Amino acid sequence: MRKKILVSGGAGFIGSHLCKRLLEEGNEVLCVDNFFTGNKDNIVGLLENPRFELMRHDVTFPLYVEVDEIYNLACPASPVHYQFDPVQTTKTSVHGAINMLGLAKRTRAKILQASTSEVYGDPEEHPQRESYWGKVNPIGIRSCYDEGKRCAETLFFDYYRQHEVAIRVIRIFNTYGPNMNPHDGRVVSNFIVQALKNEDITMYGDGSQTRSFQYVDDLVEGMIRMMENKEGFVGPVNIGNPHEFTVKQLAEKILELIPDSTSKIIYKPLPQDDPRQRQPNISLAKEKLDWEPKVELEEGLRKTIGYFEKIV
Ligand code: NAD
Ligand code: UDP
Ligand code: UDP
Repeated sequence: MRKKILVSGGAGFIGSHLCKRLLEEGNEVLCVDNFFTGNKDNIVGLLENPRFELMRHDVTFPLYVEVDEIYNLACPASPVHYQFDPVQTTKTSVHGAINMLGLAKRTRAKILQASTSEVYGDPEEHPQRESYWGKVNPIGIRSCYDEGKRCAETLFFDYYRQHEVAIRVIRIFNTYGPNMNPHDGRVVSNFIVQALKNEDITMYGDGSQTRSFQYVDDLVEGMIRMMENKEGFVGPVNIGNPHEFTVKQLAEKILELIPDSTSKIIYKPLPQDDPRQRQPNISLAKEKLDWEPKVELEEGLRKTIGYFEKIV
């Protein structure tokens, strides 16, 4: 049966890939976005599809529409953007979650929350399992994002317990791919754009901090499997690639894949509260969703470099 699916934040990096995939599967998609970090260019190819509808709307305000499923992605994700207006970031996570959950409650829609590995903060458990409660600074410059997302998880589980809303919560680890905003300051887009423009590669700290990078197609597959799982499994579940790299290794890999680049690595101060290491334990996703990432870093980087070559 054709479903009506709302994707909040659908004009963003991940949302645009999700909208495309949901349309390919024959659904009707309502993309809701205030274009804070998202961009019409990301979804321009979808606008001609009669099953696709685009609505400019800020999720901190109520929204009355009729839908079967909701993917709640609205929220700036890069530190540069979520720290630009931190009060609005918390409002987007918290008021946005309340409005989307109220909508799900009224329409009896299933609702998936795009939560984040940031709920683990600067983790003392490594790799991170879903049972770990995290180590988050409540008053730092990343807190608007981390605590906003933690409160959204709380709201999801309270709507589930109190109102029996059909929730799904995934914790996304660092994801990259085409349609990333070239100016949003995240490490993969920054390094690729810098390498393509022969500018200095800005390494924060000594580059020994680690991240585990997931290609966007793997994430979208995990999101859909989580939404569609019939076991009543609500999560939270980690969706990420467990292959861990230092940020320095990432820079070296990108320079290797752009051999003509004359860029040199320069070192800048490490931002406050920058997590030292991050790697998902994905046993739960394997067990419950039969999901694991398929795209290795080199293959994913090649596709992402191909995208940025066209736009910068
Ligand atoms: P993005 O910034 O490209 O996309 C976010 C989208 O939400 C943008 O289109 C933006 O305009 C929209 N938006 C922001 N505030 C809004 C509001 N108040 N009302 C309506 N729309 C609003 O980021 P992304 O990487 O695509 O992230 C999507 C979601 O996934 C976010 O919730 C993010 O927290 C989560 N996530 C992403 C990553 C990652 O590595 N990319 C990791 C963990 C979690
Ligand atoms: N809401 C919405 N769309 C709907 C239903 C609710 O945006 O279709 C918003 C509305 O602003 C409300 C919030 O979701 O304040 C929470 O809804 P809920 O029914 O849980 O609580 P209440 O209406 O009692 O505040
Ligand atoms: N980083 C970096 N140079 C950049 C951008 C980021 O060295 O130009 C580092 C950053 O300090 C962090 C890692 O790369 O340790 C990942 O940063 P990103 O902003 O992509 O994501 P997050 O910190 O939220 O995982």
